[in-house]
Amino acid sequence: MNTPTAPITQDVLTIPRKDGVAGAARINLVGLTRPELRAALIAAGTPEKQAKMRVGQIWQWIYQKGVRDFEAMTNLAKDYRAMLAEHFEIGVPEVVTRQVSEDGTRKYLVRIAGGHEVEVVYIPEEDRGTLCVSSQVGCTLTCTFCHTGTQMLVRNLTAGEIVGQIMLARDDLGDWVKPGEGMGERPRLVSNVVLMGMGEPLYNFEAVRDAMKIAMDGEGVSLSRRRITLSTSGVVPEIARAGADIGCMLAISFHATTDAVRDKLVPINKRWNIETLLAALKDYPKLSNSERITFEYVMLDGVNDSDEDARQLVRLIAGIPAKINLIPFNEWPGAPYRRSSDARIKAFANIIYKAGYASPVRTPRGEDIMAACGQLKSATERARKSKREIEAEAGLGVVSIGSCETSAE
Ligand code: SAH
Ligand code: SF4
Repeated sequence: MNTPTAPITQDVLTIPRKDGVAGAARINLVGLTRPELRAALIAAGTPEKQAKMRVGQIWQWIYQKGVRDFEAMTNLAKDYRAMLAEHFEIGVPEVVTRQVSEDGTRKYLVRIAGGHEVEVVYIPEEDRGTLCVSSQVGCTLTCTFCHTGTQMLVRNLTAGEIVGQIMLARDDLGDWVKPGEGMGERPRLVSNVVLMGMGEPLYNFEAVRDAMKIAMDGEGVSLSRRRITLSTSGVVPEIARAGADIGCMLAISFHATTDAVRDKLVPINKRWNIETLLAALKDYPKLSNSERITFEYVMLDGVNDSDEDARQLVRLIAGIPAKINLIPFNEWPGAPYRRSSDARIKAFANIIYKAGYASPVRTPRGEDIMAACGQLKSATERARKSKREIEAEAGLGVVSIGSCETSAE
C-alpha cells in the first residue's frame, strides 16, 4: 500500500480506492495510454477483437464530450456499461479554489492524490485560450527567479493528473462537445496547452509524454501538436527524445547569454551549459522553418537585460529557427530580483527585432491573483526555502527586497 506522500511514484492506475463493488478497487481510466486502456478492458472481460474499437469509443466520451458516467455512453450496450462502471472510474483532480483575475485569467488550485496541490492557469486571448498546466508538485530545480523553484519537489504528477487538468478547465469553461454537435463546430475555449506551470516537464518524461499523446490524439482531446508547447529549463539528454516521442512545440527557458549568469539564474546550466544546450537544439529533429523553437527570456533589472545581452542572444541562436519571447519578470514575495523597466525591455526587444526575429513581450496576465509566469506555488506546501537560501543560490549578498516573507503561504 502506498503511503499518501510517497515521492515520485508513477502510479498511473492511481492509488486503489475501496469504494468499488464489494470492496474492489476501481481503476481510473483518465491518463491510460491506448495500450494500457486496451489491456485494462480486456482484463475486465472485453473480447480482444472489440478492444480497439472500445478504446476509441470510450476516449471520445471521456476526452471530447466530458462524460464522467458510464451510463451516459449510449453507443455501448447496457451490460457493457454496467461492466465498465463496476471496474472503472473516470476521475479528474479536484478543484479546491478558482480565482478569476480582472483580465479574465483563471487560476485553479487543484488537489491531487495524497492531498498535494498544484496550480493551473487559463489565459483567454482574442484568438485563442491557453491553458498552462503543471507537471510536478514543486520542482527539483532551483532557478533563482522562479517562485516554484523555492518549493522542493514533492512528487511527479501522473499522466491522468496532467491530462485531468485540461479536463477540469473544460468543465469550468463548459468547453465540451455538446450532444448533437460535431467536433470543430464551435471555437474551443481551451485551444492551446503550454507545459509552463509548476515543475520541469522533462524530469517527468513518461507521464508528460502519455498525457500529451492523449491531448494530441484525434480520438482524445484532439489538439494539434502545434498547439502544445513544452517548456524546459534545458534537460539536454531528453530534448531529442521529446522531439521523437512527443513531437510538440518546444520552448527553452534561456534567460542569459553567458554561462556565468545562466549558472546563477538557471542552475541546470552548470550540468549542461549554453553551448551543449544549443547543440541539442540544432539537432531537434522536428526543426524546420515553420517550427521555430521559442526562447524564453525573463527580463531582470541589471542582471541580463543590457544591449550587449540582446546582441549576444542574437549571435548565439543564429542558425536555429527561433522566436524570442521576452517575459517581464513577475515578482513574488521574497524574490531577489526586480523587473527591467519598460524602456529597457523595449530597447532590448528592438535589437532583437532589427536582427530579424519576432520578439513579442509577454504581457503579464493574472498578476492580481498571482497567476503570472513563475508565480505558481502550492500555498499549503510547507517545504520551502528561506529567503536567505534563495539569495545564497542567486549569488547575492544582502539585498533589500519586499518584506512579505510569509505571505506566500
Ligand atoms: N520548468 C519549465 C516550465 C515552467 S516555467 C521551465 O523552466 O521552462 C515557465 C516559464 O516561466 C519559464 O520560462 C520560466 O523560466 C518562466 N518564469 C519562471 N519564474 C518567472 C518569473 N518570476 N517571472 C517571469 N517568468 C518566470
Ligand atoms: Fe523549475 Fe522551471 Fe521554475 Fe526553473 S523555472 S525552478 S525549471 S519550474
